[in-house]
Amino acid sequence: MPNQFEQFQAEVEAVKLRCEQGDITEWERDDSLRRMQLVDDTWGDTWMLSPRGEWFRQAKGGQGWARDYPLPLVDADALPAIAQMSLPQVAYAVHHCSRCPLHTGRTRAVPGEGNPQAEIMFIGEGPGRHEDLQARPFVGRSGRFLEQLLHNIGYSRRDVFIANVVKCRPPDNRDPQPEELAACRDYLDRQIELVDPKVIVTLGRFSMYRYFPGAAISKIHGRPRRIGHRLIVPMFHPAAGLRNPRWRDLTIEDFNRLPELIAQASNLGASV
Ligand code: URA
Ligand code: SF4
Repeated sequence: MPNQFEQFQAEVEAVKLRCEQGDITEWERDDSLRRMQLVDDTWGDTWMLSPRGEWFRQAKGGQGWARDYPLPLVDADALPAIAQMSLPQVAYAVHHCSRCPLHTGRTRAVPGEGNPQAEIMFIGEGPGRHEDLQARPFVGRSGRFLEQLLHNIGYSRRDVFIANVVKCRPPDNRDPQPEELAACRDYLDRQIELVDPKVIVTLGRFSMYRYFPGAAISKIHGRPRRIGHRLIVPMFHPAAGLRNPRWRDLTIEDFNRLPELIAQASNLGASV
């Protein structure tokens, strides 16, 4: 029996076919597709399929739509090693992961989300309370600040890719432990490889340490360093900016330099 996503896909295909056969116009097709929504049986999230075949999800209790992948459409019997996975397969593996103890405390894992061809990728620390409930990164207060910072430079969430160094919420938002960071690392490595952003912005200490072990964020924030064909730009975590007006101002300044850095990174050439 087809699952509810396969069924929905078939209904969408039927609408597209009616358009191809000339029964409805392209405008009517797109209008119908925008109205077709699916509420999933597992979490009560709402899903849509765009005319271009991209899935979008609105989390139950959340706001806004984000690119996502319905897990029931991933073939669980055909998962390769993480280093060979696609983005939907990484999301599937993360949602089913028990590589570290953080899996026991999560409501939902948060693989990360966004434009699979983003020029810029943000790497935060780990899910907080809201993220854990919605399976989306940066949807609480820090997320609103991040969206504001993006807006200031003419970007929206949809343009970028947002991930974290650990995909499951640490209890009481404590720091992720070295074993947890190590256990989770392969997922993020593969996401970076697949999205292949020109610029990576690390938000906070733990993602900064991936590239600058032991560095002091107050010293190196905002300073890009070339690694391979990418620029890595360490920045304060948005939560730090919310706590401290000085860090807030510095974060706004660092963000405002990003368009220039993206342009610079575009000239760094092909993969190294
Ligand atoms: N803080 C993070 O580091 N990541 C999130 O996803 C949310 C808050
Ligand atoms: Fe797996 Fe990462 Fe979650 Fe740990 S934090 S259980 S390694 S997905």
